[in-house]
Amino acid sequence: MPYAEEVKRLLFIGAHPDDETFFAAGSFAKYVSEGAAVSIVCATRGQLGKTGDLCSKEELPQVRERELHAAMRALGVSDVELLNYVDKQLSDAPLLQIREQLVHAIRRTRPQVVITFDPYGANQHPDHIAISRYASDAIAAASDARWFPGAGEAHQVQRLLWTPPTMIFKLTPEVDIREQAGFDFLIDTTQWADQKAAAFQAHATQFPGLKKLFFDDPNGQRTFNCEAFRLAWGLRPDILPVEDIFRGIT
Ligand SMILES: [Zn+2]
Repeated sequence: MPYAEEVKRLLFIGAHPDDETFFAAGSFAKYVSEGAAVSIVCATRGQLGKTGDLCSKEELPQVRERELHAAMRALGVSDVELLNYVDKQLSDAPLLQIREQLVHAIRRTRPQVVITFDPYGANQHPDHIAISRYASDAIAAASDARWFPGAGEAHQVQRLLWTPPTMIFKLTPEVDIREQAGFDFLIDTTQWADQKAAAFQAHATQFPGLKKLFFDDPNGQRTFNCEAFRLAWGLRPDILPVEDIFRGIT
């Protein structure tokens, strides 16, 4: 369904269910509350993740798909698309096929801003690195009408954001995040912290690990109040960091 041109539109392209919540759940809730359209594309069902003793390994892909939908419901996000790739094999995806799928997603959702992993995949996970590469490739292809004419009208993304160069919970409290290179967009998500917590909890199979990182560690708790993104390309605001990912976007 095409969105009205004046609506702010954000697309997150990730590799596994929970990537989106890990980095950007508070921002999704914030922008949904402000009337923006938020869409998620997740390339795998995270079939090699932990089960949390909640299901069998065989059931895990379907369980994680349901968890992703539930997590996004907690944030007010209903547009969730899963692709059919396999955990830890994403770098082997047929290039033309994943390019076409992501071009289709971009032309369908028509985002001004896309968020994905940085080229090092935040933690060098090969799937994260792969989806970063595929997303950049697809953004370029989506703007060129000669690629996949059947996949919708060409669309130019205005700003690509990456995950920050260091995860916020790895910065010690005395570090001023605003002074850190690559922390270009700092979103105050304090008001949506409860929704972010609910989204983490909805990823029930992954929750034991997430709880350790974000709930039990005081440094991890900072991520409920602030999310950071690095400007990959697009209009660079005069002064960084900026508190709104849509700043300067027309
Ligand atoms: Zn991941």
